[in-house]
Amino acid sequence: MSNEQLILAIDQGTTSSRVVLVNSNGQFVDLAQEEITQIFPQSGWVNQDARHIWEVTLRVVRQVLDRLDGGIERIAAIGITNQRETTVLWNRTTGEPVAPAIVWQSRQTAEIIQDIERRGRAERYQAVTGLVPDAYFSASKIAWLLDRDVGLRARAEAGDICFGTIDSWLIWKLTNGRTHVTDVSNASRTMLYDIRKGEWSEELLADLHIPKAMLPEVCANSGEIAVSDPSVLGRPIPITGSAGDQQSALFGQACFRPGEAKNTYGTGSFLLMQTGTEAMTSNSRLLTTIAWEVDGETEYALEGSIFVTGSAVQWLRDGLGIIRQASEVEALALSVEDTGGVAFVPALSGLGAPHWDADARGTIVGISRGTTSAHIARATLEAIAMQSRDVLKAMESDAQIELAELRVDGGAAQNDLLMQMQADLLGVPVVRPRNIETTVLGAAYLAGLGARVWAGREDVRESWEVDRRFEPTIAESEREARIVLWQDAVDRAKSR
Ligand code: ADP
Repeated sequence: MSNEQLILAIDQGTTSSRVVLVNSNGQFVDLAQEEITQIFPQSGWVNQDARHIWEVTLRVVRQVLDRLDGGIERIAAIGITNQRETTVLWNRTTGEPVAPAIVWQSRQTAEIIQDIERRGRAERYQAVTGLVPDAYFSASKIAWLLDRDVGLRARAEAGDICFGTIDSWLIWKLTNGRTHVTDVSNASRTMLYDIRKGEWSEELLADLHIPKAMLPEVCANSGEIAVSDPSVLGRPIPITGSAGDQQSALFGQACFRPGEAKNTYGTGSFLLMQTGTEAMTSNSRLLTTIAWEVDGETEYALEGSIFVTGSAVQWLRDGLGIIRQASEVEALALSVEDTGGVAFVPALSGLGAPHWDADARGTIVGISRGTTSAHIARATLEAIAMQSRDVLKAMESDAQIELAELRVDGGAAQNDLLMQMQADLLGVPVVRPRNIETTVLGAAYLAGLGARVWAGREDVRESWEVDRRFEPTIAESEREARIVLWQDAVDRAKSR
């Protein structure tokens, strides 16, 4: 029987709760997962039941503990990563939620953001929080719930109501109501946290009439965050790591130095670049966010997302019918040497960072008599790489830092041709780790550092293993030519 110490990492995501047991080599020993029920009360609204989130999470935790040889004694620490921004309000005395959890995607609070804009306050919010005001972030969700219920506001003012993002809610439940905390990465996504001063912004709380009494205490991402109550899992276990999902993925990619960045290639893409100890303001409406506070040092990141990347491949499958499944795009694209002068801008729902044109539409240019489905497939992959390049270039310019290398994960990162194109178009190496479950791995790393399973970040970096490194191979002149073609196509896709 093994008695190796393990870390229990919880990934409470939008669509599921997952639990992974991780050993001191960063390897996954066991895993369990269960879906979360989504609630759509009205068009554009997305809610979840916080009670259900806790029950599902506890169930998957117990599942892996029950079948663990040696049992709970082997768990050295708990790490948590979570869907960010999703907002839970609960009764401080009973621990019961007082409203449905408003999920980050929900647009139900958009009016409050419009009001911030109308009042000319948007720039102030960005200056303090690093965020471009949006209904995604927790602030408008809390304000909306309080605005609709006078009694609730009075109770919140009296200190009877707690606010938390999902990390905070899970820690509250794991400690049986003893600890009301959130970590700095999650706090920095509420749109209420002053990311440079490292404290809740009294000014913004007052602006939205949110009582400070309901906010959690803010803690570092790694270290002694809380200890689970014995009544919950049968034994007290230290919770020593916590971070929002994207920051956790950045940590799970061991992007510890300024200029190291990660890109998650899923339905859309999420890019984060570590920018060091100073918060950089973006000129391209990218988000400035706290990456983490570890070992007493706060480090920052720039964040940008792209709406349509993997979903452009889905469109080749479902809209055009030129492939039967997403993975076939690679072979089809490889059957031609280049795009034959075709460029595809997949602005299927407008263009985001750094172009910001909501009315832009998908555009294919350069079609000739010789163009085939293979050229379109290749142009689609090139578009995914080009859009990522556009965001990374904006980050380099905002941060005045050169991209060192790009680390990749997500479903479409399995596509070798796409990864090679990305390296070619960036002119820097693209590195794919062996373990692409970087989100939950980040939570395990943070918890393991906090519990001294790893002595320091260098140890973590050593346990992070490379699957494949893609070096740039094309000549500068060829890169330039392709970029010119792409930029011309982007101009044509814009609504003008
Ligand atoms: P999400 O987490 O956003 O649901 P995943 O990380 O599971 O997404 O990735 C799925 C996306 O990646 C889909 O949009 C799919 O079209 C795309 N995809 C999957 N495999 C490939 C591939 N080999 N080449 C390009 N795109 C792919």
